[in-house]
Amino acid sequence: MDRFDYVIVGAGSAGCALARGLSDDPGKRILLLEAGPHANKFWVHTPAGMAKLYFNRLRNWNFHTEPMERLNDRPMYWPRGKTLGGSSAINGMVFIRGHPGDFDGWRDQGNPGWGYEDVLPCFKRMENFERGADAWRGGGGPLNVSDPVVKEASSYDFIEAARRTGLAVTEDMNGAVHDGVGFMQHSIRGGRRHSAYNAFVEPVLSRPNLVVWTGCAVQRVMFEGRRAVGVELIREDRRQTVRAQCEVILSAGAIKSPQLLMLSGVGPGEQLRQHGIEVLHDSPGVGENLQDHFYIHTGFRATSDSSYNASITGLRKYWEGFRYLMTHRGYLALGSSQVAAFVKSRPEEPYADLQISFRPMTFNYFPNGRVEVEPFPGMGVSVYQLRPTAAGTVRLRSADVTVDPLLTPNFLTNAYDVEAVIAGIRKIREIMRTAPIASRVVAEEVPGPDVESDDDIYRFMEETGNSAHHQGGTCKMGNDGTAVVDHRLRVRGVEGLRVVDASIMPTLTSGNTNAPTIMIGVKAAELIAQETTASLVAY
Ligand SMILES: Cc1cc2nc3c(=O)[nH]c(=O)nc-3n(C[C@H](O)[C@H](O)[C@H](O)COP(=O)(O)OP(=O)(O)OC[C@H]3O[C@@H](n4cnc5c(N)ncnc54)[C@H](O)[C@@H]3O)c2cc1C
Repeated sequence: MDRFDYVIVGAGSAGCALARGLSDDPGKRILLLEAGPHANKFWVHTPAGMAKLYFNRLRNWNFHTEPMERLNDRPMYWPRGKTLGGSSAINGMVFIRGHPGDFDGWRDQGNPGWGYEDVLPCFKRMENFERGADAWRGGGGPLNVSDPVVKEASSYDFIEAARRTGLAVTEDMNGAVHDGVGFMQHSIRGGRRHSAYNAFVEPVLSRPNLVVWTGCAVQRVMFEGRRAVGVELIREDRRQTVRAQCEVILSAGAIKSPQLLMLSGVGPGEQLRQHGIEVLHDSPGVGENLQDHFYIHTGFRATSDSSYNASITGLRKYWEGFRYLMTHRGYLALGSSQVAAFVKSRPEEPYADLQISFRPMTFNYFPNGRVEVEPFPGMGVSVYQLRPTAAGTVRLRSADVTVDPLLTPNFLTNAYDVEAVIAGIRKIREIMRTAPIASRVVAEEVPGPDVESDDDIYRFMEETGNSAHHQGGTCKMGNDGTAVVDHRLRVRGVEGLRVVDASIMPTLTSGNTNAPTIMIGVKAAELIAQETTASLVAY
């Protein structure tokens, strides 16, 4: 097949879900392009392999932000997946839809069809929740969603302690009750990572109307007049073009989609001209509104029965590896965290604006790529503010697509956000000092008991704060002057071009961002199908 109706750029979380949905119609010919290589590797399939992929050179874009003044002039490392499955092939596999209010907020910002009631059918259709379907959850969908195969006693104690500090216990944070504390769910099937590629594309690879090319770095979108007609790409060191009869769809993620748009002449006019790019459409919002969850980690030295650090270090790690190979169970089959608590930083918040995540293990990442599990029993607890008010930018550094754009997240530039995160750290301490988890704490290691005043905590945040790797918002959906796409995800000001990935989120969702991004792909396929059916009827 050398003629395509839809060319999708990026086989990540949204791109894979979209390719599956579009190819459901045998009359549509789909090309899915991925810059990175295949993902068929042991450490991609193995949930604990996330640690090995964090600094991986081949399957990861390895971005860095600009040095951030408010974080002691530190640049920050931002991994993004560069392989089939995109970031869902390297992520922590936590599956959280977000709060219904997030989607109602999108709708109320001028995006009809995106309220929770509207997107719930997409969330249900896309998943196979292992506990079974109900009014909120789906069964039989492509993406497997499972409970942790091992639930540690300390995780139960964390839940109980959080309950005693006033949080409700939620049995299913993707169901009727989001806010509260409970076990997380993960996109894991039979002890193996279930990336968007594994779930949506791999099972339908034999479809004659779906073609997937890896190792294809798209350079720019080609236009005839104002209509997108294809893409220019580099494949096996050769430049070539591919035409799209109907549409080009950018699903290259929150960093590369705005970069590609700008390189193709759609973006802030002044910035484009500075780089010698001809302006096709002056769209001031492209690359603006960069949002992310600012992540703070705290660590507690624990009693030996409270942590599984010992099981995945020293000689015991070989037994654990053997167990995983034989059964696909055990600690190597777990996602990045076990428990989440959704908490309000202030009573006036309409719903929880902090996510606290608990894991009965601790580790350190080193820039040389090594990940070391700590040599003593430890419990890790992190927090991030879910709906930050400060936003940053993705801007061009060069007109060369191989040069990473300038990433400026603007963390901690707003007192409201700072206060919220400080409240989150205090809430972690309150929980960890409450029975029954308190009896498992030997000492607070990070930040340590000396870090007590707001100023001390702020300095700790400056020195250690990281990204939760939930970048979004850089091609915002909406109807104001900075909206890049409309509510059908069509790029404003041109024709035949959409953006379908985390960059269209007007505001980040209240949780990890993979599930809502996959939902965006599912929903986009539905929108496109509606339009083609409508045009057939009109014809
Ligand atoms: C380390 C890490 C841990 C995370 N943990 C979690 C978690 O536990 N739970 C959760 O919900 N979320 C998590 N996330 C976030 C989540 O994975 C992302 O929000 C989501 O995958 C984003 O999906 P996307 O479709 O927008 O982009 P991506 O999935 O990143 O896909 C973009 C794709 O486009 C490709 N591409 C880019 N440019 C080009 C080009 N020029 N030509 C061709 N292809 C191109 C990329 O290689 C990539 O495959 C994590 C992210 C990271 C990086």
